[in-house]
Amino acid sequence: MVVGAGSAGCVIAERLSRDPDRTVVVLERGPHEWPTRAVRDLRVLPIEDGARFATGYAEAAGLPVVRGRALGGSSAVNGGYFLRWHPGDFAGWPDGWTREAITHAYDELDAPGGTMGVTAFADDELADVVGLFESHWAQTLPVRAPADPWPIVGVNRVRSNRDGPLRRTSAEAYLRPAIDRPNLSVITDTEATELTASGRRVTGVRVGQERLAAGEVVLSAGTLGTAGLLLRSGVTHLIGAGDALPVHEHREVLVHYRRRAQPPVAPTALLQSVVHTADDVEIRCYSADMASFVRGLEPAGPAVGVAVMRPGARGVVRAGDSGLLVDLGTLDADSARRTAAGTASVRDMLHSAVFRDIVAPGSVAVDPVVRTSQHAWGSLPMGVRTDELGGLDGVIGLRIVDGSILPTAGRSGPHATIMMVAVRIGDALAR
Ligand SMILES: Cc1cc2nc3c(=O)[nH]c(=O)nc-3n(C[C@H](O)[C@H](O)[C@H](O)COP(=O)(O)OP(=O)(O)OC[C@H]3O[C@@H](n4cnc5c(N)ncnc54)[C@H](O)[C@@H]3O)c2cc1C
Repeated sequence: MVVGAGSAGCVIAERLSRDPDRTVVVLERGPHEWPTRAVRDLRVLPIEDGARFATGYAEAAGLPVVRGRALGGSSAVNGGYFLRWHPGDFAGWPDGWTREAITHAYDELDAPGGTMGVTAFADDELADVVGLFESHWAQTLPVRAPADPWPIVGVNRVRSNRDGPLRRTSAEAYLRPAIDRPNLSVITDTEATELTASGRRVTGVRVGQERLAAGEVVLSAGTLGTAGLLLRSGVTHLIGAGDALPVHEHREVLVHYRRRAQPPVAPTALLQSVVHTADDVEIRCYSADMASFVRGLEPAGPAVGVAVMRPGARGVVRAGDSGLLVDLGTLDADSARRTAAGTASVRDMLHSAVFRDIVAPGSVAVDPVVRTSQHAWGSLPMGVRTDELGGLDGVIGLRIVDGSILPTAGRSGPHATIMMVAVRIGDALAR
């Protein structure tokens, strides 16, 4: 039984159901229909309040925390930025996660002809501000060659998982091609509310009053969904974690500005280029005001984001009376210093001659709110809480395969790496 048909869950379901002698059941709380073209359009982030394919979590500081709730999970609603981590980000991963194994799994997803349809944004697709952003940073930093799949410290044109103008979801890439297998069932509109267990053996899940038995449960409910299930079921006590699990997040500060004039054409995607600095900060040049991508959001002007990627902020998740309580934590002193240095360099950029024709005089302002990248990861790191294939230590019949098990922080967003992890674990399980 696979709980969650998200970025990782679709890969795992496809891999496990390759063996016709294995029966695979996927439970997904999202709706039955495949996210439509309107939802998958890269010019829209379909995460507004009440969105059909997204859901929110309560956050201690009131930050909007949202996740996909769909066939495809968060891959159905995310920004479509699909960058590998830097090779050095895998230092400290458990045995078996060799450079060769990692490369092989990434290649399946993002090499030419790969499952996720990954291509870098082309020069003629760039929003005007993105072109200027790259010219500014190229004066002092190297620029990654377009064909190189590995990011560098320097300017990284974003590679995107896409079918033309649509985000290519994990469901389109993995679940849809497998959906007619007689040994694979996908049950939607169904939320696992608890795990059932006998001693240290997990025996299945509870859905409301009903118990569904399974030989093995794979939790792919996303870092927050998986934590919620483990906390509600008391499994965290079995592993000595008590009533809380840690969580990591890329907190982001936005530097806003106003434009002198509207852009000549509407941008085709939210994030087309980023800079990775030598001190592990990601500088994100958003193509336009976030409000033009998310329905109902108050316009605040276009922005450039600054996020410390390593180590990230450390927060905590707990089970509350009315659901999961998420606290995304705060920046430690060193991360706050690096964020401030990053925002200062962005202010300089926006005041430079390169941006003179774009930025309205006196309009550059740093948003005082430290926001979230919606990346939460690492509550049950491989090699610490799980084995190298996600098997939860001390618990039988339970495996975790999603963002929860990333054992380190990466200098890029997590999406490509979570799917890479699912591909490699799926390969090992399918053998
Ligand atoms: C708005 C947004 C934008 C983002 N943009 C980017 C980006 O551009 N690049 C990037 O690298 N990362 C991005 N991310 C992060 C990235 O998309 C996620 O880290 C990744 O998709 C998580 O994959 P996952 O498999 O761990 O979980 P998910 O893809 O979230 O899948 C979990 C699935 O489990 C289901 N589920 C949860 N609980 C239950 C339950 N109890 N019972 C049944 N089903 C359940 C959910 O409905 C969901 O479908 C973004 C995230 C969001 C939300």
